[in-house]
Amino acid sequence: MTNKKQNTINKFDNNVEPIVKSFDTEDQGNTASASDERRKSSKDSALFNSYFTLDRHVLSDLLSTKLHSDDFIATRTSYITIRLWFMCMFFALSVPIFSGFDFVFFPNAEALELLVARIVLSLLLFSLAYLLKIRAQVTTVRFVMPLAFLAPMIFYVASMMIVSDLPKDEIPSIFAMLPYFILAMLGLFPLTISGGVIVIVGILVPFISYEVFFIQQSIWLLVNSVWLFLLFAGISLWLQVGQLSMLMKLYRESTVDPLTKLINRRVLLRLAQRSNEGQQVYSLIMFDLDRFKRINDNYGHAVGDKVLVNVAKIIQEELRTTDIVARFGGEEFVAVLPNIELSDAKNIANRVALSISRQPVILANNTELKITSSVGVTQRKPGEILDETLKRADDLLYFAKNNGRDQVICDDDFNQAIQA
Ligand code: GH3
Ligand code: MG
Ligand code: MG
Repeated sequence: MTNKKQNTINKFDNNVEPIVKSFDTEDQGNTASASDERRKSSKDSALFNSYFTLDRHVLSDLLSTKLHSDDFIATRTSYITIRLWFMCMFFALSVPIFSGFDFVFFPNAEALELLVARIVLSLLLFSLAYLLKIRAQVTTVRFVMPLAFLAPMIFYVASMMIVSDLPKDEIPSIFAMLPYFILAMLGLFPLTISGGVIVIVGILVPFISYEVFFIQQSIWLLVNSVWLFLLFAGISLWLQVGQLSMLMKLYRESTVDPLTKLINRRVLLRLAQRSNEGQQVYSLIMFDLDRFKRINDNYGHAVGDKVLVNVAKIIQEELRTTDIVARFGGEEFVAVLPNIELSDAKNIANRVALSISRQPVILANNTELKITSSVGVTQRKPGEILDETLKRADDLLYFAKNNGRDQVICDDDFNQAIQA
């Protein structure tokens, strides 16, 4: 398979020294679509592990979190954490209160045993809610989620065993309905199919064990109750996936620019907050199209939009799939290049700027509209947060504008200019 990026590099190699080394390990023998390729390779980038589902729902995204971006995982986790906390608190408070009914319906001995079971369940749920409050992280949710559903199911089994000696018609139907109520609650969470199945299997085990080992019933009654359980589980799974799908759609709409399909400033700045911790080397390139307002004024907004789409495409084509490209503002774009130092970044920026100016937009009357850009390039300093790096790139860009536009300015150029 011909390497598209390699071709683009060669096209301009008499003008700009290509950074072949940083690109040549990618794309080789890759038959997947560009979108899949971006998903996979972006997972390899330590700090900016950030694939954003751009244009379609992928079944694998509904199946597991394997290819979800860190940012989407964080968004989904905070959503699940709030619901899970409310659910734990709701059960923890309501379960002991229902003890009043036990003393009305059952003899005192059974009601007392039930009270103990209720208090144990309530304390466990309070602890889980507390854990979510003090440590709202993915690992906490993965630990709390199954327990928050398993505990009420074990309570159900325990309570059925406590009241098992009583005549069946004296047991209120709310007791027998508890497993289905638990399954219904599970439908409130945007879980992946695999996550949902794990929790369902987790609560199915005590349910079936109880039905098989403690109830002397015909095989048909057993099949009947398991069938009913699986029916509710299926509906619950459907609801969960529906929620996840909706969350993905809303997430995509709030993070991806609809015109260029690049991520927007909001996501880039969210990454900035997380970049405090990392020590990763990266360079940052900020592009601003020159005299763009004139294009809108002279040729109309539709042509302006076409220019933006073209430029976004060129920047993406020229960079690696592990680089992050964002539409930062109206006609401003930012690229973050992990593991690239300033000297390489400057060459890359020159190559992209050249590519933009050499690929004019063709107007309706077949005339060519040449686009130029002013570019600021900088490298992250050790311990610096993305916000600070962005600010420096913006200053360099401002310098490029004042220096006559259509040029790339990096830290070194700026320092030389100041000294001169
Ligand atoms: P400079 O060389 O100094 O950067 O000049 P400029 O004209 O590019 O910059 P200015 O900030 O004056 O104008 C930016 C223009 O970009 C103004 C705004 O109408 C236009 N713009 C912003 N977003 C969009 C968009 O989504 N579509 C189109 N067509 N135009 C947009
Ligand atoms: Mg601008
Ligand atoms: Mg501009």
